[in-house]
Amino acid sequence: MLQTTILKKVEITGVGLHTAQKVTLKLSPAGDDEGITFYRSDKKETIKFCYENVISTTLSTNIGVKDVVISTTEHLMSAIYAYGIDNIHIDVDADEIPIVDGSATAFCMLLNEAGVKSLSAKKKFMKIVKPIEVKEKNSWVKLSPSGQSEFDYSIDFNTKAIQEQSFIFNFSKKNYLEEISKARTFGLMSDIAKMREMNLIKGGDLDNAVIFDECKVINSSKLRYEDEPVRHKILDALGDLAILPHFVLGKYSSFAGSHRLNHLLTKKMYEEEAFEIVDADDFKDTISFA
Ligand SMILES: [Zn+2]
Repeated sequence: MLQTTILKKVEITGVGLHTAQKVTLKLSPAGDDEGITFYRSDKKETIKFCYENVISTTLSTNIGVKDVVISTTEHLMSAIYAYGIDNIHIDVDADEIPIVDGSATAFCMLLNEAGVKSLSAKKKFMKIVKPIEVKEKNSWVKLSPSGQSEFDYSIDFNTKAIQEQSFIFNFSKKNYLEEISKARTFGLMSDIAKMREMNLIKGGDLDNAVIFDECKVINSSKLRYEDEPVRHKILDALGDLAILPHFVLGKYSSFAGSHRLNHLLTKKMYEEEAFEIVDADDFKDTISFA
């Protein structure tokens, strides 16, 4: 397997979930070993997508350098990770990635339009070699050794509308498109006022999030999956793992995880030397980006 990038430039325009600002997002090809770099065209600042540049993780994963920020990277990055794209330039002219419909669908369509092409350097994976875990109150996230990429996620919102949900996802790009990519971001009616007070979700509405009250979905449209919330948590987890320089081989599991815990987990991978870099060719029968 070789490293990849996209074939041609593509762009979309939308609004940010938290800032409600209009933003144009442009994706363009990059070369071998360049990795993933963001560029704030309005501020002329480049921000490499790496865990050292994560500056906050309240409700979204946000990167920054000096006082220049790019927020809500996770849904775009989830799609880029699932497509196995190693090198790409991402250009935005405001401080948040567009939310579109709250899922990764628009970004998958954008990547389909761009096409994926192989470069010449060999593709690498990060193979988890010892279990690591990060906990906070009842929530936890974990990575353990596995020759595959598996996700086992559970949530329990303790309201009639969501309750307990669990989902096991075995990664392939095809499975991602069918089982995960369409799951939208979600929230509880009771949390919305709180978030607005924190100056968050200013761009949020029923077209870009699933909102639940105590008993049911508020949106007039149906859920896309019966267990859409837990699937969205897996979508987010992939987007947060994308901060690593290579695709992760291992089993990710979580109960009620968050962007913050995912960030601490990726940091811990380095602190505990919990991975080794392996040749992707050795796993071409188990991991498919086709
Ligand atoms: Zn999300």
